[in-house]
Amino acid sequence: MSAATGAVTDALRELHAEFAGVDDGEVADYIPQLALADPGAFGLALISMDGHRYSTGDAEVPFTVQSVSKPFVYALALSVLGLDEVSRWVNAEPSGEAFNAISLERGTGRPDNAMVNAGAIVTTALIPDTPAAPRFGRILDCLSRFAGRRLDVDEEVYASEALTGDRNRALAYLIRSTGPLPVDPVAAVETYFRQCSVRVTALDLAAMAATLAHGGVNPLTGDRVVPEPVAAQVLAVMATCGMYDSSGDWLLRVGLPAKSGVSGGLIAAGPARFGMGTYSPLLDAGGSSVRGHLAIGRLSERLGLHLMHNPALAGSTVTLVTTADDLPSAPAAERDRARHEQVAVVAAQGALDFTAAERVLYAMDEAGPEGTGAVVLDLLRVTDIDTVARAMLRSGLARLTADGRRTAVADPDGRLREPGDGAAAPRCFATREEAVARCVADAAG
Ligand code: GLU
Repeated sequence: MSAATGAVTDALRELHAEFAGVDDGEVADYIPQLALADPGAFGLALISMDGHRYSTGDAEVPFTVQSVSKPFVYALALSVLGLDEVSRWVNAEPSGEAFNAISLERGTGRPDNAMVNAGAIVTTALIPDTPAAPRFGRILDCLSRFAGRRLDVDEEVYASEALTGDRNRALAYLIRSTGPLPVDPVAAVETYFRQCSVRVTALDLAAMAATLAHGGVNPLTGDRVVPEPVAAQVLAVMATCGMYDSSGDWLLRVGLPAKSGVSGGLIAAGPARFGMGTYSPLLDAGGSSVRGHLAIGRLSERLGLHLMHNPALAGSTVTLVTTADDLPSAPAAERDRARHEQVAVVAAQGALDFTAAERVLYAMDEAGPEGTGAVVLDLLRVTDIDTVARAMLRSGLARLTADGRRTAVADPDGRLREPGDGAAAPRCFATREEAVARCVADAAG
């Protein structure tokens, strides 16, 4: 076993050993078929952003996805219709109520959020249904792409819930009576029952959560399942509403977007870090897996994964602030040295985002004798620039130029370039020496 495999698998095994003996909670029995689950089953799985898979225990035991389907069908609705349209039908407020509560907005009857049954039934109903692409086919396809393999339906669980799901039918009729159900309640609920009966494993759940954490691209298959903004929107609703009436406490203590289901599945996503899936059918009073909750809570605490606990303060972005006469390539001649003295050089490294771009611009403002003279920005060691950072650097350079400071950029990979760049674009060169030479020449001329 390699070092990484050993370290991560060991962490999962420790959690498994720590909580496998906990037998608090009850297996759900209001859907008769779910009562047949093995109360001792316990599986943990984690998938990294590089698609590395780690698991222990019953991570490949199949069970039905139940409410863990809700964020993914919400993602599908958002992808097809957009946030504004979906929000006309389903709100995004934590309800503080149980999963099957009549949690509808006063006045409009709009369900509070897509993570409780009322909101999930409406979300399912929003998925387009056409002869060429029937609603459930689209849902199964979407869940499968999130998991990275073809999923199927547990027909026995479906039949069991269809037989006993009157409360969900009642909810659907109630919603239609107040306005916001765009389709026949019976059809909407039948599709919702089928979606809840899709069979998954803890490893599938980890892949699904990892896809959300990875900005909508499945890290196992490379498939872009939903656009990045949709993945962020879904994680936001999971963070505030994913754990039903204990969502606030979960965000406070565990600090990760999550979603639980009554069959014992639980997902948690560390944005840009990992997806986790757990399976243990013993549920707490709120309908969430007891051992899953304990395991993810402990992992978050041990590895410092709480979202609000900012572990990712960017390392040094600006690696050098100097003047060109101090560079090894500076000429020896006195006259040229003096000209080089007027050229400040700021070098940056790594991936530049908003925070990093702010640091770079601040350093450029300050560089040079009392913040005057020419300034060269060296991007040779920059590995990536996102669209926000590019726009900030371009406008910062333009502002410096407008203030009378000559600027040039060492940007061999054209990271600052934009399509349609004209004369007003930043002056970019292949090397730092060329950028400096241009500024020195400007000064001479
Ligand atoms: N199919 C279940 C129901 O609608 C899902 C509930 C859950 O997993 O929380 O009752």
